[in-house]
Amino acid sequence: MCLKAANDASGKAAGTPILDVREQACRLCEDFPCVNACPTDALRDIEKRTDVDMGLAVINTETCIAMHGMRCEVCYRVCPLIDKAITIDYRLREGDSIHSIFAPIIDEEACVGCGLCVERCVVSEPEVPIKIVRDRAQAIEETKRQQSGENAD
Ligand code: SF4
Ligand code: SF4
Repeated sequence: MCLKAANDASGKAAGTPILDVREQACRLCEDFPCVNACPTDALRDIEKRTDVDMGLAVINTETCIAMHGMRCEVCYRVCPLIDKAITIDYRLREGDSIHSIFAPIIDEEACVGCGLCVERCVVSEPEVPIKIVRDRAQAIEETKRQQSGENAD
């Protein structure tokens, strides 16, 4: 069960179904039992995984260990939309002709924001380098800043 009920601390009305993706992300179940079970049609118009839109993953290049030469790829391997929503950019480290970087790259069109990459990221709080940003335009902007070397956080 991915969804849990909001409590007073969440800022949402008590009982509102919410996802804490670090605790348990959406599994992008092929048959969408949450959509089928919803009695009010609050969840609707979802027939396939790519119809889901919960936001966009953003990677902090400062704290992602893959950006610093450690081979990780955990977020890449767990993504239900592997090689579409997330790919690995293999490249040599800057100024280093021997060692490579295996950098995870989020596809801004294909990522649906399920959060499995966040749930499984190997880095512990408070430095978890991957998060879901609900607003896609804001997420794209943050990613651009990260990639240009300007830390967004
Ligand atoms: S949120 Fe993460 S796991 Fe989910 S589709 Fe996007 S990249 Fe893949
Ligand atoms: S799992 Fe976390 S640390 Fe590993 S590559 Fe993905 S974002 Fe970086």
